[in-house]
Amino acid sequence: MTKPTTIEDIQVIATQPAGARLIVVKVLTSEPGLYGLGCATFTQRWRAVVAAVEGHLKPFLIGRDVSRIEEIYRMSMVHGYWRNGPVLNNAISGVDMALWDIKGKQAGMPVYQLLGGKCREAAAVYTHAGGHTPEEVIDSVRGFLDQGYRYVRVQMGGYGGRAANADGNPIAKPEGALDGAYFDPRDYMRNMLRMMEHVRAELGFEVELLHDVHERLQPTDAVQFAKDVEPYKLFFLEDALAPEDIKWFERMRQQCTTPLAMGELFNNPREWQPLVSGRLIDFVRMHISQMGGITPARAVATFANMYGVRTAWHGPGDVSPVGHAANLHVDLWAPNFGIQEWCRFSELVYEMFPGTPRVRDGYMYPNDQPGLGIAVDEKLAAEYPCTDTVEQWTQARLPDGSPARP
Ligand code: MG
Repeated sequence: MTKPTTIEDIQVIATQPAGARLIVVKVLTSEPGLYGLGCATFTQRWRAVVAAVEGHLKPFLIGRDVSRIEEIYRMSMVHGYWRNGPVLNNAISGVDMALWDIKGKQAGMPVYQLLGGKCREAAAVYTHAGGHTPEEVIDSVRGFLDQGYRYVRVQMGGYGGRAANADGNPIAKPEGALDGAYFDPRDYMRNMLRMMEHVRAELGFEVELLHDVHERLQPTDAVQFAKDVEPYKLFFLEDALAPEDIKWFERMRQQCTTPLAMGELFNNPREWQPLVSGRLIDFVRMHISQMGGITPARAVATFANMYGVRTAWHGPGDVSPVGHAANLHVDLWAPNFGIQEWCRFSELVYEMFPGTPRVRDGYMYPNDQPGLGIAVDEKLAAEYPCTDTVEQWTQARLPDGSPARP
């Protein structure tokens, strides 16, 4: 029997080329020059992920056979006994994606080939349009249509819609109100309906529109909102409810036909299982690194396919280019691929991560290199170290100052 290739070292690359802190795990092997990359990006708690990889996973995994991806994933999930938190899932994902990358390089095949091969040549993507007024949103959408995008997410005034109160009035806060990112959920509902009405009146129904509620509404208001947006024929309505309120999807489903997408905050299979098996949502959109990597994403895609639920993996700027490459490989294979979120990286990111997927005319294409097809310029990454700024936008507050979900 030939000696297996083993894990020789596990390193973490933490870099911040733009707003988000990106965490990438590099798994080095006993075969000279053979390594893999994985995304472990949890931008708001990046130091905890680095500590989990370096202090806990690395000593546990050194010397293991790189070919045993499934076994390593399963052992890593339970080795700390307590499981399914965002820090550990991201740390595990860094290793899991890197092992898929290594297996692809060993096989001389892109990862989508290892999953079962292509169902499509490229992944259709949607990108984010926004503005402070309906007119600005329309201009923003037009700009993307001109670039060939056919699916566009429309937001106005940030997630809370607070910069565009219908009557121009500031939010009425009580005396002594504390600092924070204030928003008014009911005002947001009115503003978004007004915006969607304008966008459809101006641009028609051919452009596929998406919208992210970002779990900003009370459950019964969210049900009302999903009904109210029905005439605008969204491609999907995202995170209409918080993970804590998923039981309300049953009521939302009974009330309207608006397609529903959910999942970027999910950590645990118990969160997505009832929504998929109950056919209560139309799209699963977990953050693949937050779930634990390609291994669980493949399982979820197969499970969702049996229930007619499609994939729409999370793909904003706080997924590293390595994570976007992983999204793309799963997208190319999954029979039930729906759509891919895309954040339009800067040229600096393309320089730092050679092989970062490219989008042309609204489709994301693979580069057909073995593995995930992505590398990192570690010297350039080191020139952009992560900062420790305290996040402001996640300090959300309701008009009376009570803390709210961001
Ligand atoms: Mg979202």
